[in-house]
Amino acid sequence: MTRQELMGVTELTRPQVDQRLGQLRELNLLEESNVSASTGGRRPRAVGIKPRTGYVLAVAMGVTGVTVGAVDLSGSIIDRRSAPIDVSSGPHDALGVCVELCQQLSGDIDGEPWAAGIAVPGPVDIGRGIVVSPPILPGWDQFPIRDWIAEKLHMAVWLDNDANAMALGEHRYGAGRGHGNMVYVKLGSGIGSGIIMGGVLQRGDGGGAGDVGHLPVPGASAPCPCGNVGCLEAVAGGLALGRVAAALAEDGRSPLLRTLAEDGAEPDASVLTRVAERGDPVALETLRLAGEQIGGVLASVVSLLNPSQLVLGGGLSHSGDILVSSIRKSLYARALPLASRDLLVRQAALGEAGGVLGAAELMVERLFSQGVLEQWIENGTPQNRPDLTRITAARA
Ligand SMILES: [Zn+2]
Repeated sequence: MTRQELMGVTELTRPQVDQRLGQLRELNLLEESNVSASTGGRRPRAVGIKPRTGYVLAVAMGVTGVTVGAVDLSGSIIDRRSAPIDVSSGPHDALGVCVELCQQLSGDIDGEPWAAGIAVPGPVDIGRGIVVSPPILPGWDQFPIRDWIAEKLHMAVWLDNDANAMALGEHRYGAGRGHGNMVYVKLGSGIGSGIIMGGVLQRGDGGGAGDVGHLPVPGASAPCPCGNVGCLEAVAGGLALGRVAAALAEDGRSPLLRTLAEDGAEPDASVLTRVAERGDPVALETLRLAGEQIGGVLASVVSLLNPSQLVLGGGLSHSGDILVSSIRKSLYARALPLASRDLLVRQAALGEAGGVLGAAELMVERLFSQGVLEQWIENGTPQNRPDLTRITAARA
C-alpha cells in the first residue's frame, strides 16, 4: 500500500504512519517499490513487508497423508514435502511424521521458521488447540495437538480445521479471489466446509462453524461416528462411498466392481467413480444419489448464507462429472432463488496446495495481528517463541 492508503485503512496520521514504517525499516522488515499507475506528479511509493524476511511451516494433514510447506510472508511456497500417515493409529505416530517433515524442510532452507500452522480434518477447539470428538480421527479426542507440536518444534503453533484452511487458501490465492462471501466445501473422506463472509473466515463461537458433514440428510439412517444417524458425511462422504463400493463388489450387484476387486483393486470412492464412468448402472446411481444428497444440504447452506461463490474441493470433487453435476442440479433446484440467482459453483483451483497456503495464511495473519505483533516486533522476529502460541489462541 502507499502511505496514503495506509493512513486511510489505519486512521493514523501521517507522522504516526511514518514513525511505524521507520520502526519496520530498522528491523529490516520493510520493502518499498514504485507504484506503476501514477496519477501524475511525484510517483507514490508502495510499502510492504519483505516476503522473504521470514517463513512459516504449514502442515496440511489428511486421513492418509500429510503435506508440509515452507511458505514466505507473501504466500509463496518455497519448498514442500509429503509423506503417508495413518491417523487411525492415534496422534503420536502421525504427528511425529509432521514434526520430522517440518525439521527436514527448515534444515534445507536458509533461516529459522517463524511459526507453524497445522490444519487437521476434525472439529478444532481453537482456544485449546485440540480436536473435539473427531469422527474420522479415532483416538485423537482432546489430544493436545498444538502444544505437543509447539514443544517439539520450539516455536509458536496454530491449529485449525482443514476446511477452514482450504477456504482461506482458495479465497486469498485461488478460485475465491475477489469474492467477499464464499463457502468452500471439502468433499474428501469426510465432508466439511469453511465459511468466508465479508472477506473474513467465520469460525463461530468455539470453532465449530461450517461442519456441514454432520447436517442431516432427510430420510437417511446410516449411523455416523459422531453419534447421530443420517449425517451427510455418513451417507455421501468418501469413506461412506467406499463402504458402498465394497458392498457392491462383495454381493456382485456391480459385476465390474467385483472384477476389479478380484484383480486386487481396493473398492473405494475413486474406483466407484471409475466404474460409473464406464457405465455401470449401480455405480452411476450411487454417485447420482450422493450428489443429490450433498446438493440438498448445500442448498440449505446457500439459502442460509447467500454466498456469491461455492468452491468445491477435496478428492471427491475431482472424481469426474457425475457427482458434481448431480450436486449442481439438486443445489439449484432446492436453494431459494434470491440466494442462488447469482451463485457461482466452481472447482477449487489450488488442489493440495490450498491447505498449505491456507494454513500459512492463518499463521501469518495471527503473527501480524495486533496483540501478537506487539509481543515480538521489538525483537524483529517471532522465532523460537512457543509462548506466542497461547496469545495467538487467546486472540482467536
Ligand atoms: Zn455425524
